[in-house]
Amino acid sequence: MAMHDDQERSGSGPTNMRIAIVGAGMGGLACALALAKKGFTDIQVFEMASDLGFVGAGIQLAPNLVRILSRLGCWESIEAEATDVLEASIRDGASNRELTHVHMPDIRKRYGYPHCTGHRASLAAGLYEAAKKEPSIRWNFGCTVEGIDQYTPAVTFTVKPRDGSAPRQVECDVLLAADGVKSNVRAHVLAELGVPAVVEDTGQAAYRITLPRSAMASDPEMLALIDSNQVTRWIGSRRHWIAYPVASKTIYNMSSTQPDTHFAAAPSATYTTKGSKAAMADVFADFCPLVHRLMDLVPDGEVCEWKLRVHAPLPTWVRSTVALVGDACHPTLPHLNQGAAMAVEDAAVLAEVLARAPDATQGSVNRCLRVYELLRKERTTTLVDLAAESGRTLHLGEGRAKEERDRQFAEARASGKKAVPDKWASPDVQEMIYSHDCMKVAAEKFDELYRSLA
Ligand SMILES: Cc1cc2nc3c(=O)[nH]c(=O)nc-3n(C[C@H](O)[C@H](O)[C@H](O)COP(=O)(O)OP(=O)(O)OC[C@H]3O[C@@H](n4cnc5c(N)ncnc54)[C@H](O)[C@@H]3O)c2cc1C
Repeated sequence: MAMHDDQERSGSGPTNMRIAIVGAGMGGLACALALAKKGFTDIQVFEMASDLGFVGAGIQLAPNLVRILSRLGCWESIEAEATDVLEASIRDGASNRELTHVHMPDIRKRYGYPHCTGHRASLAAGLYEAAKKEPSIRWNFGCTVEGIDQYTPAVTFTVKPRDGSAPRQVECDVLLAADGVKSNVRAHVLAELGVPAVVEDTGQAAYRITLPRSAMASDPEMLALIDSNQVTRWIGSRRHWIAYPVASKTIYNMSSTQPDTHFAAAPSATYTTKGSKAAMADVFADFCPLVHRLMDLVPDGEVCEWKLRVHAPLPTWVRSTVALVGDACHPTLPHLNQGAAMAVEDAAVLAEVLARAPDATQGSVNRCLRVYELLRKERTTTLVDLAAESGRTLHLGEGRAKEERDRQFAEARASGKKAVPDKWASPDVQEMIYSHDCMKVAAEKFDELYRSLA
């Protein structure tokens, strides 16, 4: 790739800057698509996997995410298979007694976009199919980004192909690292800054399983669940199950959180493992028969357990013209269902700020990336903290705190308005998360923030 000096590039406007994206997860795909839609002409995506093999599991598609997908022109195909969430039932795991029931019939009207559940593969395919139509995006699958070689006068990094061919060096003007919770680029940026990389063990792990409708068809109680527009959460001490229909109600998605015992002794690189069905049943031994009947439908070899990790808050997401995106900079516990939504919001904001760069010099691009950080850091920190807090509340064991929580659940049920201890289902929290139009805020605040960074 030809090297441009700052002088040349500043005259040519910013849309021809060379943009490299690490990772084709939700954040990377959304970055590529959002930047292409803004008219950037030279976008390359580097993904270590040889294709988009997304783990089959469900995902909640909240209105703040749907707003962006809709503007990027890829919501229609995802919505075709999605289920509107109209209610949430939070239950005591042991007895199946409902602690509260939240009705949310007016989400679409209130926020302009629905809250849906969907299949992760459908979200990824929607983003990827739309991005594939953009001629300005070039795809490099089976290519691991090993590390950053230099930051100035342009960023260069080494890519190692999976096919055994020789590593090559790539030069770009902007590097967006959407390489997930285990981010290589984050490690390099932190090392450059002399800041220790601290991956935090949450002490929690998750089972993620999917059940075909046919397996549930003979059980009326199960059939009612998959035919509903409801997210159901069963909670207990240090554990919970959350479940909802996906894929046009042909699949029932279930995921759990429980204390991490199986990974505790494993090397730090290990994140997923095939779990044992018997061990899973043991962990939830005191949960009600309905949850056990659901768990029992999982074929023995198909229990998959994930370790849940986060990272200590980062002092910065930006170094020169390199920026971190999504789980690479704000990994979160899943209890607020906002991880992918935050990654896609990051991408949309990056496209807004880079499109407003006055030129493509390193100084201007760095300022734009710092505006991105200013626009995003407070919000993502709030949501990451809220997810952790919600998890602590959901997982309370016997005692005064749990009694108070259950009183609040009951009060929310009676009033229909009050704050709900399960934060994702709480109308006040939903208002804060769903009404935030990150693209509009970026457009409104860009000039002021950019000037403040002179
Ligand atoms: C149990 C569970 C349930 C969840 N439920 C929800 C939910 O309901 N709603 C929601 O919004 N979020 C949810 N999330 C969170 C969500 O899945 C993540 O936050 C989101 O996928 C992050 O996207 P990302 O693009 O930042 O990272 P990832 O999706 O992790 O993508 C990173 C990509 O980078 C690639 N990569 C990594 N290193 C390199 C490298 N060196 N070179 C090249 N490529 C590389 C990886 O192969 C991968 O494709 C959940 C998470 C969990 C664990």
